[in-house]
Amino acid sequence: MTATPRFARVALPVPLGQAFTYLIDPLFEGRPGARVLVELGRRKILGVLIETDCAAPEHVPLDKIKPILQLIDPVPILNDELRTFLQELARYYIAPLGEVLRLALPAMERTTAEQLEKELGKKVKAVGRSLQVAQLRPDIDVATLEFPRGKSRQLVEFLVAHGPTEVSKLSAVFPTARALCKKLSDRLVVEIINKDQELDPFFKGSIQRDVPPVLNAAQASAVQAIVQAMNSDQSEQFLLDGVTASGKTEVYLHAAEQALALDRGVILLVPEIALTPQLVNRFRARLGDVIAVLHSALTERARLATWQDLRSGRLKVVVGARSALFAPVHRLGLICVDEEHDASYKQEEGVRYNARDMALLRAHRAGAPCVVGSATPSLSSEAAIQQGRMQRLVLPSRAHQTAQLPTVELIDLTRFGPGPTGDPLLSLPLHRALEATLASKDQAILFLNRRGFAPSLVCSSCGEIALCPHCSVALTLHRERGARLVCHYCEFQTKPPERCASCGGTRLLEEGTGTERVEALLAEAFPHARIARLDRDVAAGKKSEAIIERVRKREVDILVGTQMVTKGHDLPGVTLVGVLNADAALSLPDFRAAERTFHLLVQVAGRAGRADKPGRVLIQTRSIHHPAIVCAQKHDVRTFIAHEMLARKEVEYPPFVHVALVRFDGPDESTVAREARRVAGLVSEHTQVEVLGPAPAPLARLRNRYRYRFLLRAKERSALRQVLLVVARAPNHHQVRRTLDVDPQSML
Ligand code: ADP
Ligand code: ZN
Repeated sequence: MTATPRFARVALPVPLGQAFTYLIDPLFEGRPGARVLVELGRRKILGVLIETDCAAPEHVPLDKIKPILQLIDPVPILNDELRTFLQELARYYIAPLGEVLRLALPAMERTTAEQLEKELGKKVKAVGRSLQVAQLRPDIDVATLEFPRGKSRQLVEFLVAHGPTEVSKLSAVFPTARALCKKLSDRLVVEIINKDQELDPFFKGSIQRDVPPVLNAAQASAVQAIVQAMNSDQSEQFLLDGVTASGKTEVYLHAAEQALALDRGVILLVPEIALTPQLVNRFRARLGDVIAVLHSALTERARLATWQDLRSGRLKVVVGARSALFAPVHRLGLICVDEEHDASYKQEEGVRYNARDMALLRAHRAGAPCVVGSATPSLSSEAAIQQGRMQRLVLPSRAHQTAQLPTVELIDLTRFGPGPTGDPLLSLPLHRALEATLASKDQAILFLNRRGFAPSLVCSSCGEIALCPHCSVALTLHRERGARLVCHYCEFQTKPPERCASCGGTRLLEEGTGTERVEALLAEAFPHARIARLDRDVAAGKKSEAIIERVRKREVDILVGTQMVTKGHDLPGVTLVGVLNADAALSLPDFRAAERTFHLLVQVAGRAGRADKPGRVLIQTRSIHHPAIVCAQKHDVRTFIAHEMLARKEVEYPPFVHVALVRFDGPDESTVAREARRVAGLVSEHTQVEVLGPAPAPLARLRNRYRYRFLLRAKERSALRQVLLVVARAPNHHQVRRTLDVDPQSML
């Protein structure tokens, strides 16, 4: 008599479907969240068990269903909390489950079967090195383990008692430690880890514990509300609404301390650009060595080690940019999202998720409070508050008694011409303000969201603009390290031409101003000033920290830069901030252009006068009556939000409706257009979902691929979802790539 076959559903890292059905051997006793080895076609690949007790699939003959070949983890690598969250995320974004699971597994845990075998081999071979540490695999329940007996058992018990231990130290207790470790690691009871966390730049040197400041009344009541939710295991949502430097970070720190006291784990998300050693040190100084930092410079091994330490609960707090939301934090008790309005929380490739939105979901499912904080809250938060889903916690003023908000002046570029440099973006009032700042030995920051020397090269006879041959955008002229034209979208580069490609004219004008040109003009105008520039061309990653450090040490008088200068830095010597062109962001073809501009201006303005000297902000614009600009001048977040909410309501855009973008791109324009029309046609009949488009994207060609899209708009999310499922299931033209973007952040 044969036993009735049992089926399991396995998520695989392929861009199809949700999960695949396999036969599962009851002896595997695998639990959801464990990795398994299976065959897909002829390939052996790793997947994650999603369900172990499912019904036989309806449309597949039983003899076609393959068995699971091997169980990799006796103990699930994803716990139930994280696994079900990922499943919901996949559902929400209509993203392939296997790809979503990859977000939560470091590369070494999602390698192919062959690589895994090699990895396991390497781990065992590497046991001889001194930096090797042995630890029990996470969540192993020693009491119920049958396998290890004798010496192995003693070694396991030693690890239970002492925690992770260097293999060389184990050898002192167990003469055959190396062999035992190898055996136990083959049997997946113990894991051998390379400790190269010491190499992590964020953890250089030890750190002094700091003394927490006494919270002011507003901070204290904010912390109290959060802690109350934590104590009652409620997943309340909070908006921490406070101007820059009002002490929001202190609130996160105090709430995190309380979570630790309850033996709960914490996730703190920060925008990509804000993840600096300075911030991390502030957290380490307060919370000690239970902190993990996830950042892009980690080696795969270090990332894996961090992951394992979080999973086992040895590390309890994780700080990182958006992907840290997927950290396997043990007993999750609190999620904080700093600068929640920041666009970098949205991942714009692969699985297009928004970490701010998903933080709310994960916290909700984990029964943990979620705090999103900002000086310029997003309209989503505002809507959530109005609907009673979110509670507002206000920090009304700056934490330092002496630190006042800076005065903000608007400079109407239609009235003021250029100052002595002759460049329209360095107006006379700005020039004078720079002189005054230099005279009083203070520092200035100038912000311009355009890198390079000149944004375009234009023929003076026929007006032709030098374009990227692969994209529908103008090439930017760069002067540094030799003159060249660069595409900021695809990195194409070429020498500036001698003649216009269209009419052969020889007078080519360098139109517009980028950060490089500003730097050059200032150097000429203020020969004694120390000038530095901060943008992607001079500083990738760590170098930008070094430049900021020079500003902090007062080795720089004027810092010119792009977005990189706007965020998070605490620079007490800066008293003047100039926004050279506030209109650039306003004119983007995006319904969030005003909101983005407002956020940007308030954030930049927040860089001025943080310590005891008053700050001054000059905003240059040609639209001095635009609400985003007027409200930024007055630091009037409420009026701006009220105004923008009305505007969105009128044109029916989020947060009043739900939208999704369906994008198409491919090498042949007419095929792409036809495919976009065909797919749009499939859903155009739906009564509750409006289809806007299809039309060419604002960036109509990128890397030689033509781009079309249509927007779906619905009052009810469920209706939007229905239509998206139709789109997702529609067969695809082989020459056209189709992507779904639910709650898009960028309309380009
Ligand atoms: P935010 O996160 O809102 O920008 P921070 O938490 O970074 O604000 O606080 C700004 C500055 O004020 C920091 O230098 C911080 O140490 C200080 N600070 C915050 N709260 C207090 C407090 N209650 N007493 C004294 N200083 C404080
Ligand atoms: Zn290009």
